Amino acid sequence: MAFTGKDQVWMNGKLVAWKDATVHVATHALHYGTGIFEGIRAYETKHGSAVYRLPEHMRRLYDSCRVYRMDPPWPLEELSAAVLDTVRANGYASCYIRPLVWRGVESLGLDPRPCPVEASVIVWEWSAMFGAEGLEKGIDVGVSSWTRLAPNTLPAMAKASANYANSALIKMQASLDGYGEAIALDESGLVSEGSGQNLFLVRDKVIHTPAINSSILQGITRDSVITIARDLGYDVREAAIPREMLYLADEAFFCGTAVEVTPVRSIDKITVGNGARGPVTAAIQQHFFGIIKGDIPDTHRWLTPVASTVAR
Ligand code: PMP
Repeated sequence: MAFTGKDQVWMNGKLVAWKDATVHVATHALHYGTGIFEGIRAYETKHGSAVYRLPEHMRRLYDSCRVYRMDPPWPLEELSAAVLDTVRANGYASCYIRPLVWRGVESLGLDPRPCPVEASVIVWEWSAMFGAEGLEKGIDVGVSSWTRLAPNTLPAMAKASANYANSALIKMQASLDGYGEAIALDESGLVSEGSGQNLFLVRDKVIHTPAINSSILQGITRDSVITIARDLGYDVREAAIPREMLYLADEAFFCGTAVEVTPVRSIDKITVGNGARGPVTAAIQQHFFGIIKGDIPDTHRWLTPVASTVAR
């Protein structure tokens, strides 16, 4: 990813130059992780540029705020329009979009409620996270020694900045160990997810993914994958997955806004299946990329044209 420093940023209600989109060091979120964010992509489809699953991302943003008793001063529709405005203002046909809502400057007491709720949207150009090779050949991953957020600690369903301290530990360890990513387990030792992506396994043509009680973020791409897989006639099961299933799967893949649908070719140096992208992963990838390119009809209405002024 690359910041050009030339982009327009939507900040607290208006578009400002990149260099002017700054916060004070007394910002509550900077000290205590009291931010909520989203990661969204806009794609260049055959029918024009479109934001992928904008209403679902904005709903999750506001749901996450609700858990943390944050009331953004802009209604959901207004922040959704701000996303489209920011993409348009910067003229990207495809880009990554990062809305952020945070507790600003008032007090550094641990109760954030006296602090104002602020918001911004930045965008940048970002292609496939692991490159074309990652999408085709898959990545090597290890099981992390860091555990995902335990229930009643940090709520995993809320996409809070604070959660990403855990993700950073998982990701740093994976990189230092020579892996592209890691799979983290939940506090019971069951499979959870990656540092910033959900995991799917395939065995005997049945597709398995951890359920929402496995300390996962309920990914929007995960929902797309489940929907696509069922449309294609596959049996998809959301349930607790024991660690050893990782080593017995015929196929494994990660999914998320950043990684899209990326095959996993080895886990803890044990080859997944025969080490090549499997047929189920390939079918789901083909369908996913077909929709975002506009080659396959958007029957589920996942694309919001960037040219529209309000979210659909
Ligand atoms: N899990 C975590 C921890 C994440 O940060 C993300 C990325 N938002 C995901 C899963 C995938 O979610 P989505 O498909 O909505 O991007």
